[in-house]
Order: sequence, then C-alpha cells, then structure tokens
Amino acid sequence: MLDKLNEIEKSGLESLNTITDPTALEAWRVSTLGRSSPLMLVFSELGTLSKEERPVVGQAANRVKTALESAMDARAQILRAAALAKSLEQETLDVTLPGRRIGIGRLHPSTQQLRRVLAILAEMGFQVYTSPEVETDEMNFQLLNFPPHHPAREMQDSFYVEAGERGENPILMRTHTSPGQIHAMREYASKNPKDPPPVRIALPGMCFRYEQITARSEIQFNQVEGLAVGKGITFADLKGTLTDFARRMFGQGAHVRFRASYFPFTEPSAEMDVECFVCGGAGCPVCKGSGWLEILGCGMVHPIVLQNGGYDPKRYTGFAFGMGPERQWMLRYRINDIRTFWANDVRFLEQF
Ligand SMILES: [Zn+2]
Repeated sequence: MLDKLNEIEKSGLESLNTITDPTALEAWRVSTLGRSSPLMLVFSELGTLSKEERPVVGQAANRVKTALESAMDARAQILRAAALAKSLEQETLDVTLPGRRIGIGRLHPSTQQLRRVLAILAEMGFQVYTSPEVETDEMNFQLLNFPPHHPAREMQDSFYVEAGERGENPILMRTHTSPGQIHAMREYASKNPKDPPPVRIALPGMCFRYEQITARSEIQFNQVEGLAVGKGITFADLKGTLTDFARRMFGQGAHVRFRASYFPFTEPSAEMDVECFVCGGAGCPVCKGSGWLEILGCGMVHPIVLQNGGYDPKRYTGFAFGMGPERQWMLRYRINDIRTFWANDVRFLEQF
C-alpha cells in the first residue's frame, strides 16, 4: 500500500511538471485528486486494513494528498504568471486613446444673461434687491396702480395660490418683478420717512404667468427691473441711463430709439428698441424687416406708485425699466423657441 502511494505521488508530480495550460491542469486535478482517482481509492480502502496498518497508511495518504495539492497550487501560479507575461508581450495597450470626458456643468443661459445684465447695472450704480416670488394681489397689482378689474391685468394672467377666502387680495405667484419696487421703496423710506433716501436698485428674478405655452411665451421667465427714485430725476435721465446701458450691452455703436407705450405703473411710458445687431438696421428675419429689436419697457414712475412706496410725488420723481434675459439671449443667439430654456435638454444647454 505504501509503495502504491509513493508511486501515485511520483507519477502525479511528474505529469504535473509537463502541464502548460489551465485546461490540462484541471484535467490533472480530476484524475489525480478527484473522487475516483487512485489516491481517493486508497482512502476508501482504509477500512479494509488491519488495526496496525490503518494509521500508517492513512498518514501517508494524507501526506501525499497535501503534497500533490500544494504542487498543483504552485503550478497554477506559474501558469498565471506565464499567461500574464505572454499577454504583456503580445498584446499592445494603446495609451494614446483618449479617456472618457468628465462632463463639467456650467451656468444656465438665463443665469449667464441675468448676471451679465446685473454686472452692467452694478457698474452703473444699481444695487441688487431681491423680493419674494409669492405675493399678495395688493403688492403685485393694486399698489402698482392696477386696481381690481383693471383691464391691464389681462396682460398678466396669474397663478393663484390657495389661501382661503381673501376677498380682493388673494395670494399669487408674482407676474413681474415690479412688486419689488414697493418693497424696496418702503424699506428705504422707513429709514427716514420725512426725507427718504434715493433709490437705485436692480430687481432680478423669476416671474410666472398663466399663459398658453408656445414658442414665444412661457409660464415662467426671468425679468430684471431697474428703479431709480430721487429728487429732480427726469425723462432725460431715463434716456441717458438706458442708452448707456444699451451701449454697454450691445457695443459702443448701438443705436436706440424710444417709442411711446403704456404701463399702469409708469407715466409717461416707453419701449426702447436697439438697432438690429444682426442686419445693422437694414431689415432681416430676426427684426422682422423693421431694423429694430424691442429690448425693454420703461417709463417715469407713476405718482401713485411713488406715494404707495412712501415717497412724496411732489418732491420725488423716478424712472423704472424692465427687460427679459431670456429674450435678449434669444436675440443674441437667434433662438426661436423660448421653451428650450426650461425643457432641460442638455443638447440645448451645453451649447452655451
Ligand atoms: Zn435685422
């Protein structure tokens, strides 16, 4: 029996040394250490041996089994190392292949334009003033000279917020940034009610209107409004300030024109156009052949609005203007659908 074990060990180790691939190694394992191998047969025959022989043969069989197993592990390691060396030698790794690009986020086009407008206004001395997006009807309309049932409200259909029975002062999402004018004037005036300090602020932010969504109108959009209130401010200041603004925004050669318009909270009111920067005023599809692009609405603050803000309209005057960053962005990049701004389509956003 012991001779047989020695023979099993010797021939096992010999044949193991000739193995050069993993498939052959597995076959070797089955035939040498598998359930029906000669070695395992020795283990199953132990019961038939005498009391004296049994521990001797058992010990020897275990030693052979351990020796063969560790020899197999060593062989397997050699094969792995050889396979790696072979693949390193034969296969080439192209280290010049570009890696996967990491997507770097950026500012939304609306935010970019908003910041550009605010940066220009800041250079001109306008300080940013933020006010709530949810307002009372009083702040959003009445104090800005839109009484209940005023026809001008039809231009600003609103989203109302459920807040119980509030009569003629319901809660709504602001339809423009103008309620910030009242908030700001009241805050400034409260510092010195008898002789309120001058105001020069920029009011940026999101506005909401209950509109049918089309390529030209969205239910949400940004506005930037400017307000200047003080003693002796005239329409000439308005024109000078806004002409300067247009030059800073569209270039020193930018021409502007003012057209009479109507807003309840300014009197007189105007629209400012800038000469079409696409065709230089000759007329093109962007300016619809007119040579001019409508950029903002403006006017002298209505005396009733000054009064509601805590400024005596006999001593104070002021001007206000409002514009839409998305609209400016659309003109600048000839985008013909405002819905792209809030559609969250990366193919649009990553172009800027
Ligand atoms: Zn044009």
